[in-house]
Amino acid sequence: MPTFVRTEKCDGCKGQDKTACMYICPHNLMKLDKDGSETGHAMKAFNQEPEQCWECYNCVKICPQQAIEVRHYADIMPLGSSTFPLRGTDNIMWTIKFRDQKTIKRFKFPIRTTPEGSIECFKGKTLPSDLADLKKSGFYTGPARKE
Ligand code: SF4
Ligand code: SF4
Repeated sequence: MPTFVRTEKCDGCKGQDKTACMYICPHNLMKLDKDGSETGHAMKAFNQEPEQCWECYNCVKICPQQAIEVRHYADIMPLGSSTFPLRGTDNIMWTIKFRDQKTIKRFKFPIRTTPEGSIECFKGKTLPSDLADLKKSGFYTGPARKE
């Protein structure tokens, strides 16, 4: 099910031009309502087209305020429960709050096998220096080009 923002928790990423949820959404759905003219809540983000949501939960996981909530499908989560993640550098903790608002379960999973920031994704890759390079072979995913 699409995600939605808990306005009481969202701090608008402290007024930055691009909020964390706007940065991460692959479908460009999250928007910051700066003056409150769209939602009635100034400096709060919202999902501007919930029906287009991929349900990838990137925004849910990146939000530093845990302000984006998701109601999962009843075949996976208890009916009426709400779900919050807390992402660490090497793990993620999911908190499931049941609909009685009292029962809580937590599940912690590792998310990496290497230290955060240690991967050099361009190491050993041939990078273009100008547009003409794009017509040559050996670009990025191929072996290093021999000039
Ligand atoms: S990432 Fe979270 S705190 Fe930041 S604007 Fe989006 S919902 Fe609000
Ligand atoms: S769940 Fe994914 S597609 Fe949906 S609003 Fe969040 S980041 Fe965008």
